[in-house]
Amino acid sequence: MFYEENPKEYHSAIVDVTDKCNLRCRHCFYYREEHDSEELDDESFLSGLEELRKRHNIMSMGWCGGEPLYRKEVVAQGLKLFPLNTIYTNGTLPIPDVDNVMIAISIDGTPEIHDRIRGKGTFNKIINNVKAFNSKGKFILFLTTIHRINFQCIEEMIELLSQIPDTMTCIMFFTPLKKYKDVKGYKYTEEQKNFLDLTWEERDDVIYRVLKLKRRYPGKIFNPDRTLELMLSENAGICTSRCNMPRRTLTLDLKLNRKLPCVLGKDVDCSKCGCVFPYIQQAKKEGDPEAMRIRF
Ligand code: SF4
Ligand code: SF4
Repeated sequence: MFYEENPKEYHSAIVDVTDKCNLRCRHCFYYREEHDSEELDDESFLSGLEELRKRHNIMSMGWCGGEPLYRKEVVAQGLKLFPLNTIYTNGTLPIPDVDNVMIAISIDGTPEIHDRIRGKGTFNKIINNVKAFNSKGKFILFLTTIHRINFQCIEEMIELLSQIPDTMTCIMFFTPLKKYKDVKGYKYTEEQKNFLDLTWEERDDVIYRVLKLKRRYPGKIFNPDRTLELMLSENAGICTSRCNMPRRTLTLDLKLNRKLPCVLGKDVDCSKCGCVFPYIQQAKKEGDPEAMRIRF
C-alpha cells in the first residue's frame, strides 16, 4: 500500500477497484499496459482506503477500474468513506441507486460507432440503464473519448444524447502512450499505436466543432469554452507541462499502490494529453468563471 514518510495532503484520489471488465474497448487505457491483476480482499481494500483518507485528508474519491460495478458491494461501502464520490462506469451494468454521487458513463459515439468501439449491443444497454437511473431526476455525466474511429460522428452523437434529460457530455481525446509494449491477452496494441491518435489539425477541427455544438445545445456539453480553447494545438503544451495531477490526486492501483503520473498509465504521453484535467486547471488559474464552477 502507498506510504509516504511525511504524508502530503491530496484533495482527491482515484482507485482501480477491480481488474475485471465485461468489455474490451478498442481504445482502452487500462488493458493497454501490463499491470498486477491481483485484487485485495474487500476488507483490506476498504480499510486501506480509510487509512489513506485519514493520512492524506482525501475529500473526493473516483471509483475506476476495470469496471468498478463488478465489485458493487465494495463500492457501496467505499462511498461512505468519502464526502465526494464519482463512479466511472461503462454503463452496461445496472447503475446503483445512490444519492450525491457523480455517475460518469462512457459513451463513444452514435449507436453504431459506439458498438464498433465498445462491443455489440452496448449502446442500447447503457441507454436502458441510464433511463432507469435518471427517471428519478438524477444527473449523469457522459464521457466521450474522441479518436480516429469516432471523430466524424460527434454532431450526430450530441444530437442524440442531448435528448436525454439530466445529462451532459464531456468531450475528451484519446491519449497515446510514449512507448507501447506487447501486452499479453490484449490484441489492439497495434491499432492503438498507429491508428487511433488524431493529428493536431484534426484535433483542432474537432474542438471548433464542439464549440459550435455548445451554442446549438446549451447546457448539454460539459467542457467550459476556455478549456476547449486551451486544448488547441497552440495552447495545449503550456497546460500539459504544468499539469499537477500527480501532486494533487492520489492515483491508486488494485493494491492501493501509487500509479504515476496518473490514471492513464505510466507510459502515457502527457504532451498529447486528451484528459480535461490540465485544461480545467489552467482555466481555473486564469479565473475563468465557467471553469471555476467545476469541483475538481
Ligand atoms: S470499459 Fe473501461 S476498463 Fe473496460 S475495456 Fe472499456 S475502457 Fe477498458
Ligand atoms: S496524462 Fe494528462 S492528466 Fe495525466 S499526468 Fe499527463 S498531462 Fe496530467
